[in-house]
Amino acid sequence: EVRVRFAPSPTGHLHIGGARSALFNYLFARHQGGKFVIRIEDTDQQRNVENAEAKLIDSMRWLGVDWDESIDVGGPYAPYRSMDRMDIYTNHLQQLIDEGKAYYCYCTPEELEKDREEQKAKGETPQYAGRCRHLTLDQRQKLEQEGRKPSIRFLVPKDREYVVSDHVRGQVTFESNGIGDFVIARPDGIPTYNFAVTVDDSLMKISHVIRGEEHLSNTPRQLMVYEAFGYETPEFAHVALILNKDRQKMSKRDESVVQFVEQYRDLGYLPEALLNFLVLLGWSPEGEEEIFTREQLIEQFSLERVSKSPAVFDQEKLKWMNNHYIKQQPVERVVELCKPHLLAAGWINEQSDEEWIKRLVALYQEQLHFGAEIVELASLFFQDEIEYGEEAKTVLSEDQVPTVLKAFYAELQALESFTDEDIKQALKAVQKGTGFKGKALFMPVRAAVTGELHGRDLNHTISLLGKEKVSGRLLGFIQ
Ligand code: GLU
Repeated sequence: EVRVRFAPSPTGHLHIGGARSALFNYLFARHQGGKFVIRIEDTDQQRNVENAEAKLIDSMRWLGVDWDESIDVGGPYAPYRSMDRMDIYTNHLQQLIDEGKAYYCYCTPEELEKDREEQKAKGETPQYAGRCRHLTLDQRQKLEQEGRKPSIRFLVPKDREYVVSDHVRGQVTFESNGIGDFVIARPDGIPTYNFAVTVDDSLMKISHVIRGEEHLSNTPRQLMVYEAFGYETPEFAHVALILNKDRQKMSKRDESVVQFVEQYRDLGYLPEALLNFLVLLGWSPEGEEEIFTREQLIEQFSLERVSKSPAVFDQEKLKWMNNHYIKQQPVERVVELCKPHLLAAGWINEQSDEEWIKRLVALYQEQLHFGAEIVELASLFFQDEIEYGEEAKTVLSEDQVPTVLKAFYAELQALESFTDEDIKQALKAVQKGTGFKGKALFMPVRAAVTGELHGRDLNHTISLLGKEKVSGRLLGFIQ
């Protein structure tokens, strides 16, 4: 049975890299009719961040992913949070100690540092020097009497090769001599990642480990732990890194790129667009098509088409894709994306007319890339003083302008209602009365009421702006 897992550490928000791994696991499980597990790996307690776990789960749900087993839904291999599995780890650690496959290590940071320096001086690649590998019971007792608390190290077998057969990378061989005895439990008894992940993946019967390439170098250590317990190893697929547009490894601190799923949600992206986009980072479909529903992705996903070379994160493409999805939504859904931003900008409030907001959003739906963009796009509806661009000023200095705007102003004052159609008729009347038409008529009107020469449908824009605002702006040019 196919069983895969996403195993985030609760160190912050869901990063796009993590989300991509999660999605590959999810799609693979669903494609294969297997199970998708979420397990929280929180044994590195210094890195844990309050509430991160809930946020990770929220972000996953928002993306439209579902799972079969986890902290929230339970499952046959519970608990699904590492720190709730301490009993299991303690027993497993003891087993390795009893079998001589692991040992207590009392080295201080200073001693470790000294060994490292010596190895470097000899031109060797530093690794654990083995000080505590063969301590007698007496020696151990002495060290404990000094008050030292031991960590536990795994005894790495000498002269062995560990081969990771990876669905993405092929066969990757590691020499055990290049790997020092590594810590599997800290002095407080809490296991390290390489140990806990192996025990958990085994006990949870994980069949395929699909994760980021940054974990490939951990894999030989994990293979050793599987071997020590006589556990079967899962299959592996290490997915290539995501690079930024300068082809550099993404740094979570780089603020020029939005990197967290929650941020995309808050900016007014659609989950199905982000999901579609993330899956294409490192997986490619057979044809040229790039737009896929979740169901289509489930149907088509395979590890064979996961790429070995790094994916480049192109924010512009994500914007394009989100716009593609936005255009297809009922306007109500786009209003949901935009409204929080209009509220935050102070441009509408909870009492604002829903119908009007809907018409406003509809006006920009075609060009909108994400919800927050509405604030900038629609600013001319909310600012008392709009800015007039150079081009607009030039148009507004043409000779016919006062005549045209005066006539339009007069037509507007006579209107009882202010619909698109009313505006259209008013402009027609101006044309008839003044003899100006086409650009000579529409450009000054648009320039005077919007400050720009280009924009959305003019009748609709004027109707939405409303009589008061439009009249005010016109008056500025005819007095
Ligand atoms: N907790 C690890 C991480 O967040 C998971 C690595 C794995 O999938 O094995 O990077």
